[in-house]
Amino acid sequence: MIITVNPATGEQLESYPELTGDEIDARLDKAQAAYQDWRKTALGERTELLSNLAQTYEANKDKLARMCLAEMGKTYASAIAEVEKCAALFRHLAQDGPAMLEPERWSLGDGKIAEGRWLPQGPVLAVMPWNFPYWQVARFLAPTILAGNVALLKHASSVQGVARLMEEMLIEAGGPAGLFQNLSIKSDKVHAIIADDRVVAVTLTGSEGAGRAVAEQAGRYLKKVVLELGGSDPFIVMPSADLDAAVAQAVKARIQNTGQSCICGKRMIVHTDIYDAFMQKFSDAMRAVKAGDPMDETTDMGPLSSFEQRQTVLDQLALAKEHGAKLDFGGEALDREGAYMSAGILTGVDPDGPFASEELFGPVAMVFRARNIDDAIRIANAIPFGLGSSVWTSDDGERERFIRDIEAGMTAVNQMLASAPEAPFGGIKRSGHGRELSRHGLHEFMNLKTVMLP
Ligand code: NDP
Repeated sequence: MIITVNPATGEQLESYPELTGDEIDARLDKAQAAYQDWRKTALGERTELLSNLAQTYEANKDKLARMCLAEMGKTYASAIAEVEKCAALFRHLAQDGPAMLEPERWSLGDGKIAEGRWLPQGPVLAVMPWNFPYWQVARFLAPTILAGNVALLKHASSVQGVARLMEEMLIEAGGPAGLFQNLSIKSDKVHAIIADDRVVAVTLTGSEGAGRAVAEQAGRYLKKVVLELGGSDPFIVMPSADLDAAVAQAVKARIQNTGQSCICGKRMIVHTDIYDAFMQKFSDAMRAVKAGDPMDETTDMGPLSSFEQRQTVLDQLALAKEHGAKLDFGGEALDREGAYMSAGILTGVDPDGPFASEELFGPVAMVFRARNIDDAIRIANAIPFGLGSSVWTSDDGERERFIRDIEAGMTAVNQMLASAPEAPFGGIKRSGHGRELSRHGLHEFMNLKTVMLP
């Protein structure tokens, strides 16, 4: 049985029976059968379903938002924004997706032609996390539908209500049974599903440990895998930056979703010339962050997604202190019902030490002082992760240095990094491999068939 809990109150929400082995087997058969039909559908049918899905999400956004608010504590406003972003992605691929599947042609030396056709491959398994429980799944589901593949979802245990609603939305939008199936299972069942011949590939968003486990199994069975594993993104502020804008976005980056975002700035790296000024403003703004009822419009952040997640962050902060870091303020459990904690700032972390590589999935920022741009880049690259980064400078030369030298899949200039339906999303190093979104994400699980024409 999988039990969901409201992190704002601690109350049990619902219990979901786990699928038995026979039930999983039947769903894999159903996925295969659905694939044999879906792969032959015209692109127009697929784009129509995506348009309908966009409308269905818009029409149900209050219901959808309330479910994820209850299951993982995000504020109502951010939950609505997340649902709307999913609708935007469905709409984007409905409109612009077919052009991404246009065949490519190459002239061969002997006067013949080779043509590249984008074809589907079969059922794809997605193992997804709880932090953006709609968006992470939509990033996988929308291209799966357009590609002609079919989708199997193993969602995080804590957001089973979201998973069920997403399955319902597809049916409500007119999608065929079997095109998108939610598997209500715990993670111990994932290995056997990856090994199963009826599944062609797997994508995972989550922790490094889960990514390693899934990639090992995918490797053993030679299945394609895309991994989005988070990390500890640098947020670099140089003296030429607009300091007020940088501070405002640094706070937003660090507290959005109560600090539980893979691409939010987690390590603030500040040039020594403006370090004190930055710290003054950043500390004032972080102290003013209001944690509270996610339904209240004046709330900046809700509780952590679970009591376990809060404990993980508190344990990490204790570890940081053992390693010589100093919690300037905040980072404490609030004395009230629910998995709340205060926003805080951690200084004195050794940039080259083991703690700097910890993914602090809570509203506490590490701040580092950099002597110059070389030092800032060195600190940014000193960890084994490379997902996103955010750099603040008005100097063109510095900007180009950051773009060239920061080891990350994404660099945002003078803005907080955020994903967009149109732009590729993904990391390097231990943040994973492969891309989601854009034509690059769409193509990940497709067969680029080379056709030699006379
Ligand atoms: P996990 O990575 O453990 O969970 C993500 C998904 O993977 C869930 O569906 C989970 O299922 C599944 N999973 C976990 N272990 C395995 C496994 N061995 N084989 C197959 N599937 C598995 O995240 P947690 O919720 O445990 O969070 C721990 C930390 O992970 C966070 O503190 C944060 O640092 C990081 N994280 C990063 C995210 C990101 O966006 N990059 C998102 C979420 C977490 P189940 O829920 O049933 O365990």
